[in-house]
Amino acid sequence: MSKLFIKCPRCKTTHFISFLKHSAYVCSKCGYHFRLDAPKRIKMLCDKGSFREFDKNIKSLDPLAFPKYKEKLEASMNKTGLKEAVVTGECKIGGFPTTFGVMDPRFIMASMGSVVGEKITRMLEFSYENYLPAVLVISSGGARMQEGIYSLMQMAKTSAAVKRLNDRGLPLFTVLADPTTGGVTASFAMLGDVIIAEPDALIGFAGPRVIQQTIGQKLPKGFQKSEFLLEHGMLDMVVPRKNLKAVLTSLLEIHSTRPYENLRGER
Ligand SMILES: [Zn+2]
Repeated sequence: MSKLFIKCPRCKTTHFISFLKHSAYVCSKCGYHFRLDAPKRIKMLCDKGSFREFDKNIKSLDPLAFPKYKEKLEASMNKTGLKEAVVTGECKIGGFPTTFGVMDPRFIMASMGSVVGEKITRMLEFSYENYLPAVLVISSGGARMQEGIYSLMQMAKTSAAVKRLNDRGLPLFTVLADPTTGGVTASFAMLGDVIIAEPDALIGFAGPRVIQQTIGQKLPKGFQKSEFLLEHGMLDMVVPRKNLKAVLTSLLEIHSTRPYENLRGER
């Protein structure tokens, strides 16, 4: 049975889940942005019926025979109906064609194992081959420790794919949602040509406690939150969720059609 109510983790207001849908899952009282799964993001951002999914059925292996990893994967698949923590494909946003990838925090905190890295790389390669921009909506706990070095290798692979896109003059727009951390921050998340974040999202590499212990200093208020990072030049904009589609549409519009047609002509 599905739940009827949900409590805002910040201001503790109780919301009807069915009402929350109409405010894009943002708390009407304090503006808290609830975490969103991939299907909701697709519905919210992609033009109706335009999303075509890539590589739907690639599944993770258990290369290190890590204790309980297989069970964890199985449980996440059952819970989410997805095979992995990222959904990728192509779609239109505001009428503009683009590739589109979205991470799903319900799936092992959307950590990046080999399948997540591979799907994102293939999506970026599709953009490269077809002269399309790319949009990635990110939320992730970082590299997936159960896959060890195979997971860390995805940082280099995805970064190289972003570089190729860049060499062809094609833009990547990243949207960072709460939380964006670890190896994902240290690779494609921060490589967007325009980096957007949702309000009050935690964005960082190591967590605040680790940093505090390492440098032996107290951290400033709001450290690693979107607004703080914007002030310090790490992000380009902080965009409330209800404006996200409009902002992405105008970015795609500004960077679309003419330049790509010219590039195609040069082939
Ligand atoms: Zn609230």
